[in-house]
Amino acid sequence: MTLRIVDRVDAFRKEMDAERGAGRRVGLVPTMGALHGGHTSLMECAAAECDVVAATLFVNPLQFGAREDLAGYPRDPDGDRALAEAAGATYLFAPPYEEMFPETPLTAVTVAGLSDVLEGASRPGHFRGVATIVTKLLSLAGPCRAYFGEKDYQQLAVIRRLVRDLSLAAEVVACPTVRAADGLALSSRNAYLTPEERAVAPTLYQALRAGRAAAAGAPSSGRSEPPSADAVRAAMADTVARQPLIQLEYAEVVDPDDLAPLATIDRDARLLIAARLGRARLIDNVAAERPR
Ligand code: AMP
Repeated sequence: MTLRIVDRVDAFRKEMDAERGAGRRVGLVPTMGALHGGHTSLMECAAAECDVVAATLFVNPLQFGAREDLAGYPRDPDGDRALAEAAGATYLFAPPYEEMFPETPLTAVTVAGLSDVLEGASRPGHFRGVATIVTKLLSLAGPCRAYFGEKDYQQLAVIRRLVRDLSLAAEVVACPTVRAADGLALSSRNAYLTPEERAVAPTLYQALRAGRAAAAGAPSSGRSEPPSADAVRAAMADTVARQPLIQLEYAEVVDPDDLAPLATIDRDARLLIAARLGRARLIDNVAAERPR
């Protein structure tokens, strides 16, 4: 099916209403463009489960800090159209900024607590910008399934809570992180890496795997105490410390739902990491099962 490009807010709302009116299930895939295999995996997943896939492309200024990379954020509108169509998208909603915000918005959506830790501590206001734009996109799309990547794990947690708290008419679907063959999580910001930086970037995933191994404990140790979160953090930090080009920002072990830091791996956990590598700030995460 040919991709239909919509750049007007009213037109997008009307199209989505008409699709639902005709009995079709809408799958929404919000993105900031510069599409890659992570984004297209969400669209493919949506295409498999829904009748209509509405991908959105909006580089959302509300979620960038004053000193962040809004102006230089990678943009590739032609490539985005081709990839979205190949991945099975039916619509690409790509509004200009003035169409989304003809007036400076005075309204913001805050998911307290969850937004202030980890990424939120390094990027004040970031999740308020995310929650505000996602609320707006869900409002325009109407009842739908909404697809988000586990790659941005804290974002997923914030959006899940937002949808619950405000009873938004969306079913949030989480999709697994898509990685390059060497383990690096695909990201639009990987475009910032020099060849030398790209070569060492998989260290982040290696650190997460070292953390996951530490969380699993030695299988035949016979130890009754669960591994400590400090040991898991140290395993991640040590792996990154061996690579001088990378500056670790955090390596954390948290509860998968409320993101509270854990002291021991006495339940399933999520390991989250953030680091600077040249111009890029990279994040990644994995699940770590409690030792059984
Ligand atoms: P972004 O364009 O970076 O805002 O991302 C749009 C959506 O794609 C978000 O739900 C991201 O979590 C998801 N995404 C980005 N990278 C990946 C990846 N490597 N694997 C899976 N999902 C991803």
